[in-house]
Amino acid sequence: MQRWPVLLFLAWVCFLFFAGIGLFMSGFLLTRIELASSSSCSDPLVPPPWERQSLPPGSCWAPQRFAKAVLVIIDALSFEFAHFNPAKTSPLPYENKLSFLHRLATSQPRHARLYRFRADPPTATMQRIKGLTTGSLPTFIDVGSNFATYAIQEDNLAVRQAGRVVFMGDDTWEGLFPKKFFRSYFFPSFNVKDLHTVDDGILQHLYPTGKHGEWDVLIAHFLGVDHCGHKHGPDHPEMAKKLTQMNEMLRSLVDHLGNDTLLLVAGDHGMTETGDHGGDSEKEVNLCCCVLSKFLIPPLPLQEPEAVPQVNLVPTVALLLGVPIPYSNIGEVMAELFSGDGDAVSAALQQLSVYHINAKQVRPTVGLPIELEKRRNVFLSTDLFCLVQVGWGHDVIFVGSLH
Ligand SMILES: [Zn+2]
Repeated sequence: MQRWPVLLFLAWVCFLFFAGIGLFMSGFLLTRIELASSSSCSDPLVPPPWERQSLPPGSCWAPQRFAKAVLVIIDALSFEFAHFNPAKTSPLPYENKLSFLHRLATSQPRHARLYRFRADPPTATMQRIKGLTTGSLPTFIDVGSNFATYAIQEDNLAVRQAGRVVFMGDDTWEGLFPKKFFRSYFFPSFNVKDLHTVDDGILQHLYPTGKHGEWDVLIAHFLGVDHCGHKHGPDHPEMAKKLTQMNEMLRSLVDHLGNDTLLLVAGDHGMTETGDHGGDSEKEVNLCCCVLSKFLIPPLPLQEPEAVPQVNLVPTVALLLGVPIPYSNIGEVMAELFSGDGDAVSAALQQLSVYHINAKQVRPTVGLPIELEKRRNVFLSTDLFCLVQVGWGHDVIFVGSLH
């Protein structure tokens, strides 16, 4: 007699349970479609009318300004860690330790510049590596052409664009770029209690490779600061030791690099007061980036940008090295680094030129069906309306659902 009401109630509970999971999966865990297209030197990028001269050899899209680049990623290097405040008499363990960057940026502003970068959530290392190499906004679920691997299949700066790439550090890159590097030294990243294996492994190879190695791009991904955050939190004496080690590493590395090399030091994400990351809190998305070069960097613009979206690094590095910007990039080129040494008019024209290339790349006019073009770099959400802010001057490029 009373069995049917109970069964109906259980069926209703089951329905609510699965409907809730379905709604959560389709709305909260956003999905993005990866496209297999690649940029190339032969893309029909019409140069702006004020720049009709032919490109120098070795350049593509824009004149090459640096022959080589070194990208040092210090995992979880929050902007607070890199910012130096000489007025602080009793700094916390994570404060005022990267004095080398501060000293260079203040004493030699034509050779070093410190930026506050802003990462897009999720602030997890794998998604940030994807963002830093493709210039896109990866989500937890990126739907690519091959479901059997989490390797990056999109056009990216790390392997397809920049010639001989040597990698050392966090073995997360091995899964993302299997067998793609010219030479690689991977070290295990799984044990977050281990503060030294990855960093010490990199230090064994970094200086000899930097000075004599055959490479066009050298990437070193240090993990000690991130692991120290997970194990002890940022406010711990071990963090002071780790950051001091990174400071000494940067000081030595600069001495081992040639004049034609651009050095970029960047965090992939920040960390909370408890040393965690993954979300979108201010402390997790605020991170440091420093541009260093023995070659002169153009003078400072009148007004420094407040915070630079992290994806802006991708088109900037591509055009500084004279290689095509990856196809999926939505970052905005940091034009002040292209203004050169000329007068104000030529500086403005050079900046306009790189903006022109960047705009052409972000919105290609040929080759894509409209529906695919709409889907490029936007989050897809089945039921919920979503709003995407991108690095392109913080414009909202998409509001609503494509389904
Ligand atoms: Zn971590």
